[in-house]
Amino acid sequence: MKTIGVLALQGAVSEHLSQIEGLGHKAVPITLPAQLATIDGLILPGGESTAMHILLGTFDFIPALITFIEEGHGVFGTCAGMVLLSQLNEGAFLEAEVVRNGFGRQIDSFEYHLPVELETGTISFPTVFIRAPFYASVGNAVKVLARIDTKIVAVETPTLLATAFHPELTEDTRLLAYFIDKKVTASQS
Ligand code: GLN
Repeated sequence: MKTIGVLALQGAVSEHLSQIEGLGHKAVPITLPAQLATIDGLILPGGESTAMHILLGTFDFIPALITFIEEGHGVFGTCAGMVLLSQLNEGAFLEAEVVRNGFGRQIDSFEYHLPVELETGTISFPTVFIRAPFYASVGNAVKVLARIDTKIVAVETPTLLATAFHPELTEDTRLLAYFIDKKVTASQS
């Protein structure tokens, strides 16, 4: 069993918590930087990335998050979390050119069946996009897992996973299971 935190300053937190527990792991809402020392992996949820960024600064989270990633802990950013991952430490962990709200007003929110090319094979996910961002391009160290046309909507590095969509708003927990199995190492007992 691994302990997975969900940043709980703002945004879609509860769905992640219940899906983590549904997979048999311990889920912890994270509201203080010191809590990062008690978890194995972290989810940066969807919400509003500007608000989240401001709150991260207010609660002095940024240095602790940088250390957490530098230590090799897995982090999964969904939607606003995907925006944050590309901005953290000026893109040093996940180099990408992010376009916020990148799907335009007409299709602000939509559902899409998306093939995602995971290390374990390509699986087709029901995905929910809500005022979603995309990456226009990524650095060499970042692997693209899914695109819609030319828009990059899922990526990974050895310890990070980012999706423009909200896997927690569907019943399909395979991507969360992939994150926990492949990116998170159990270090806490
Ligand atoms: N558009 C939002 C942002 O950039 C993200 C939307 C979401 O997380 N559903 O913060």
